[in-house]
Amino acid sequence: MSYRSEIIRIGSLSMGGDLPVRIQSMTNTSTLDTGASVSQCIRIIEAGGELVRLTAQGVSEAENLVNIKREIRKAGFETPLCADIHFNPAAAEVAARIVEKVRINPGNYADRRASFIRQDLSAGEYRAELERIRDRLLPLIRICREYGTAVRIGVNHGSLSDRIMTRYGNTPEGMAVSAVEFLEIFTGEGFRNLVVSMKSSDTRVMVEANRILVRMMADHDMHFPVHLGITEAGEGEDGRIISATGSGTLLAEGIGDTLRVSLSEAPEREIPVAREIIRAVAGPAGRVQRPSPALPFRSAGEHYLPQVFTERDGRYTDEQGKPYTGNVLAVAADGLAALDGEQSFDTLLNPHFNEDNVESLAIDAAALLGRFFIARHPSGLCITNSGAVRGEALRRLAFSVLQATEARITRTRYISCPTCGRTRFNLEEAVRRVKEATSHLTGMKIAVMGCVVNGPGEMAGADYGYVGAAEGKVHIYRGTEAVMKNVPEEEALAKLLELIESDQARR
Ligand code: SF4
Repeated sequence: MSYRSEIIRIGSLSMGGDLPVRIQSMTNTSTLDTGASVSQCIRIIEAGGELVRLTAQGVSEAENLVNIKREIRKAGFETPLCADIHFNPAAAEVAARIVEKVRINPGNYADRRASFIRQDLSAGEYRAELERIRDRLLPLIRICREYGTAVRIGVNHGSLSDRIMTRYGNTPEGMAVSAVEFLEIFTGEGFRNLVVSMKSSDTRVMVEANRILVRMMADHDMHFPVHLGITEAGEGEDGRIISATGSGTLLAEGIGDTLRVSLSEAPEREIPVAREIIRAVAGPAGRVQRPSPALPFRSAGEHYLPQVFTERDGRYTDEQGKPYTGNVLAVAADGLAALDGEQSFDTLLNPHFNEDNVESLAIDAAALLGRFFIARHPSGLCITNSGAVRGEALRRLAFSVLQATEARITRTRYISCPTCGRTRFNLEEAVRRVKEATSHLTGMKIAVMGCVVNGPGEMAGADYGYVGAAEGKVHIYRGTEAVMKNVPEEEALAKLLELIESDQARR
């Protein structure tokens, strides 16, 4: 289904309807450090960020937003600011009086961290829980109404409440229900200045959750703008490709009013990537005019292992060098959006690009091709390019698109958070070292996360985790269990490798 949101205002910024998809990013400085936060906000704004989010983990950070905002306005920028809240309604209530938008997480606003313990509630108990959450939200709603502050209901896969997980599991449906419950509380109070998001590091989960969300909102006669993003996308080319596959898929369907690309890099570097994804899918107007149909997912039980092909003089060869004689769907890149699922089902998809820049090609290809492989339709991929990028780079890109959509895993997937004011170590450097030391492994998910507050929940699905704890200390995770705590940072990589090797030796 295509989705047309209502227009809302966030300070000086309008969002939704037919307006261009808005680009945003988030700082990774300490929100108590006014100078560093102001400088980083300005770098994001100058790169093209239209909204800047800062973490406000406590009341002190929330209070300091007043100084940060004052300095940004003094420097001549009217860009709205957003406070990012987890676990702390008091911080939200302070921030909502200062900045133009507050993001809250339904999984932890009125609930403690999920303990993964079943919380079987009768229908009456479930309703009573929603009443308790409503009471917790009322002060925030009153403040936001008084100050004209917008609210994002930001759901993350991996930080759902025990209540939701018991009833729906850690599923796309649970994510959407979690948001709709909060939306109903806000709209029940007559508050509609709302944005909503469904994020996951898994592209398929993120796409499915957003599709369910817009269907549920339509059923409730709600049409709030949707914020898109893949969490913990990582860095470099892989981070760009995974972001583009998930967000590109939804933008092509007409879903998405604002986009944040989460990279483990300087936040201002996220802006051109977001711009390129939007341009690839929506064109220069920044908004898809004729949305593509949502491709149905291939049924879960069916075996699916797409191959990467090479083409020479109109002849295709598979990974073993054997000629291919099946159906080929050769199509110009700008014709990809018009393809429906049936045409590309079980065919070799051969899109033609004309791009000289390797990064632009990677983002364009991922943004346009992601939806076919997330839905598991084509049986193979061969990327052709008449620009400067040729040969092995195109085969590698094809494997990366399959990896990002989890259609075919051929190497280790790295999940890493974009960092924020909670990060207490050099995460970019840690990612680089972890990647270097584990690149020989295949088919594994390894997470490098900035903090133990949100990291363990949001690295959901990772086999191993390297998670920042106290200053200079790291927790090492196997799945969801912290098996080594407070390991000094200098020893943490060796300990992680020891753990992986001993697990492999036991298999
Ligand atoms: S995992 Fe922690 S440090 Fe990383 S972005 Fe999330 S809250 Fe910030």
